[in-house]
Amino acid sequence: MLSADFLHLADDVRMVNENADLFHLDVMDGSFVPNISYGFPVTDAIAKAAEKPLDVHLMIVNPEKYAVKFVENGASMVSFHLEAVESDEKASLIIRAIQDAGAKAGLVINPDIPVERLFPHVGHADFFLIMSVFAGFGGQKFIPQTYEKISRLKAYMLQRGVNTPIEVDGGVSLENIHELHKAGAEIFVAGSAIFKSESPVNYISKLRQACID
Ligand code: ZN
Repeated sequence: MLSADFLHLADDVRMVNENADLFHLDVMDGSFVPNISYGFPVTDAIAKAAEKPLDVHLMIVNPEKYAVKFVENGASMVSFHLEAVESDEKASLIIRAIQDAGAKAGLVINPDIPVERLFPHVGHADFFLIMSVFAGFGGQKFIPQTYEKISRLKAYMLQRGVNTPIEVDGGVSLENIHELHKAGAEIFVAGSAIFKSESPVNYISKLRQACID
């Protein structure tokens, strides 16, 4: 929703309700990332009108302070960055807090973090989010190393008999979604590509088709 038109947010919320599978909300604090996006007043307004699940992606320091509040305010999925917490133990505690509050807990890594850092959380987190650009700004160019990270994580999970969904976020478009799906991703965050296209509705259906082809 970072790429939505905030002066006409109701229109974009309706478009997502009618065509997409979830609302991905990038929450930035100006500290973990250089940018500030939006907070509770905006996410609450979207939550009220949303007929699809809310997927809140926290790009903030101290995610433990706010993760549960987003669940209470209507998020079905809440993810936070592994780099934003000081230890794996802390990450596990936040994952559990999100789950206890009734939502799915996701762990995110930026492009410069080795995917192996997620391995201790396989079997615990409900989904993993691999950033294919650096968190903090919309409209960046997709980083191709993402494919390999996704397939390595997928292979590790299959070895252990778990099949946790992998989400990918940043520069997802018709140019890469097929390859990303083949690598093992199954949740795709596409903001700029959809909202900047001539027809967001057609673009979403083309993205779906590209996963099947
Ligand atoms: Zn995001």
